[in-house]
Amino acid sequence: MIRLGHTVSTLDAESRFGLDVLLDVARVPLAHREIDCVQLHIHDHGAETTHEAGQVHVPRSLLRETASLVGFLREQHSDARDRHGRVPSSENELVARHLEQIPIAHDHAIGLRLASQRAAGDRPFLVLPPWPEGRSWAAAISHDVDIVDTWFALTLVRALEVARGHDFSTAARILWSGLGGVGRDPLLDSVRRILETESRLGFDSTWFVLTGRPTLRGRIRKDVTYSLDSRPARETLSKILDRRQEIALHGSFASAELPGEQARQRRDLARYLPNAPCGVRQHFIKMRPGATQREMAAAGFEYDASFGFPDRAGFRLGLADCSPVWDGTARTTLPLEAVPMMWMDRTSSKYSGVEDPRRWLDPAMVTADAARAREGLWVGIWHPYLTSATGFPGAEEAFQELLHALAQDRPWCARLTDVVSWRRWRRAIRVASAADPDHPISVEAPEGPWRLDTGSDARGNPVAISVLPSLAPSESESPEPPGPTRG
Ligand SMILES: [Zn+2]
Repeated sequence: MIRLGHTVSTLDAESRFGLDVLLDVARVPLAHREIDCVQLHIHDHGAETTHEAGQVHVPRSLLRETASLVGFLREQHSDARDRHGRVPSSENELVARHLEQIPIAHDHAIGLRLASQRAAGDRPFLVLPPWPEGRSWAAAISHDVDIVDTWFALTLVRALEVARGHDFSTAARILWSGLGGVGRDPLLDSVRRILETESRLGFDSTWFVLTGRPTLRGRIRKDVTYSLDSRPARETLSKILDRRQEIALHGSFASAELPGEQARQRRDLARYLPNAPCGVRQHFIKMRPGATQREMAAAGFEYDASFGFPDRAGFRLGLADCSPVWDGTARTTLPLEAVPMMWMDRTSSKYSGVEDPRRWLDPAMVTADAARAREGLWVGIWHPYLTSATGFPGAEEAFQELLHALAQDRPWCARLTDVVSWRRWRRAIRVASAADPDHPISVEAPEGPWRLDTGSDARGNPVAISVLPSLAPSESESPEPPGPTRG
């Protein structure tokens, strides 16, 4: 826990966002002013975070860098477009610096936590737990449902894709196994097997589905390829809902650009679900950075799970965690959570020509290891259309292998709506009192389904917490007035 010293009032909007993100990811809650705990100050002398007894000094430049990365400012202000109309990955600040494999902003947060713990000495200190159920990291599996019928067209496209690389024997094998699928429903079978495997290994998952009217032009452009009224789509939805997994919107190409389209698609999808969808991920990760997120927030979505690269694995916002979305035009946060996406199944085959599905898992495990080492969140995308019949022999086995590998390190495996709910709840926690070392630290928390009974102190030892309901907006957010510093 920490108090904000008066120098925090000198921060501009972006830098204050950077500070809020660092404290949130560091899991260091703000404390009420009367508590004698570490106080945070801003300095302009160099780039190092320093500390002394009872005080930690954070460089302004670090907060600016954090805001720039987590707020994806370079992408929000870029006019560059790739052939799909997307801002290319090369416009991302971390990609430009060849650092997208390292969650740099996350490491800044850990650095701030360590400095604050050292500054605490014998003062009361609290680090909140990373995830529920005593888990030290989280791994979320998500699925983009791009196609539910006419799967043989996919087989043909896939055979052509392979034949273009002059691998005619594989192309022939793909056609042959495709023919083996005729008369069956390989895509629905794949959905069923995915759900079964996930349930067996304790994974809850999130499924992003398209809505709208499929047209020939849309199918050729690989935009909306099915109607939710079709039999295969209805069966897919009911299989997912039967298992109590989450369904969210896979925003079509139009939703990336057209004002009002996010809201229209959210209403449309809600007609097929027990509740309106909480989250969205853009199909092809197609968005206008900032503008699309404003539309999502206005439509009532709680999170956007599009924050990954279409063409490489990595940490697009420099975090193995969620954060509020920064609106670079209005210079404020949106009521929308940015959910990262570190890895996607087909990236290696599409962009690097790697055809062995087991090798697709290498970047998955590298990014998962990086997230786990930081007690963070890892999110991956697996497309249910990857089956032998559609030209991806060995893909389903690779997915099973991935889940087994992830499960070994005991992550919290939750639906994204739960991940976001936990993160928002934990972010709102404020320390209300820390009377003496023999009593639990009292925190105020909003109502919610979450429980909290232990955190850790400045030395990493467990410390008991008692939770009180939040009464009024907390004064802890605003910096303290200048005056003699305590501590
Ligand atoms: Zn998609």
